[in-house]
Amino acid sequence: MSAASEWRAERNVAARARLDRALPAIFPAPVLRHALSRPLIPPTPRLAVESYWRAHLLRADRLARALATRSGTPENWSWRLGTEKGSGLAATFRMPPSPFREPAHDRGKGHCCICGQPVYRFGWHRDLWGSGVPNKNARWHAACVAAWKLWVAPSDQVKALKARQRHRCAASGKRLFRTAEVDHRVPLYRVWREHRDDPWPTLLAFWGTPNLQVVNRVVHVEKCGLEAGERASSRQAMRLGTAGLPDRTEEAAPDPALLDGSA
Ligand SMILES: [Zn+2]
Repeated sequence: MSAASEWRAERNVAARARLDRALPAIFPAPVLRHALSRPLIPPTPRLAVESYWRAHLLRADRLARALATRSGTPENWSWRLGTEKGSGLAATFRMPPSPFREPAHDRGKGHCCICGQPVYRFGWHRDLWGSGVPNKNARWHAACVAAWKLWVAPSDQVKALKARQRHRCAASGKRLFRTAEVDHRVPLYRVWREHRDDPWPTLLAFWGTPNLQVVNRVVHVEKCGLEAGERASSRQAMRLGTAGLPDRTEEAAPDPALLDGSA
């Protein structure tokens, strides 16, 4: 046994013992299975849950959007941008709107600031323990944190997204090269321009997998060029006082791909 694997084996024995001690009688079985199969076993239930969702990002994305659908669009909420500290608003349309971060719609402790639903032990989204009350110290679901990371930096998850497409370019159908890039099918500037008033849970799908595709770099450069041209002519049209909004709706709005949350 090499020094590294000896170190790992020793560490895993200690981590397993620590995990066993901290593990409650009820714990999601798939999470435990996942934890015990890691090269480095997570030493706490909370870390086991986080590790699980990191490894199941696409499922986390579906779940977070399904939970958001359960919350629905808060009353009197609209998607706005802003830079004021404490406003909960994002400065750019590139960030997914998050109403529950805005003070007016904050659901308080024990509720997820991403989806608005109650959070239970270890950041889990279902009350497996029958406690009847959310975990007052929690502000987000572990699944929603994983989803958020995908939404705001999808390029970091290119590996999972490539696998989802069986390593084929979403535009050309050819094999994806190592330099392939993540693209929003409907670009986010168009989401802001044309879908701003869509219901909030539906909006999230534009950041999630329904709107994400991996394309080869050459295709991506071409698409970005077309989009830049379209934005420029739209700006010009607005300056000229003609209809500012093109009625190009050839790309259907993505399916919110709901999940029953049974993960
Ligand atoms: Zn959540």
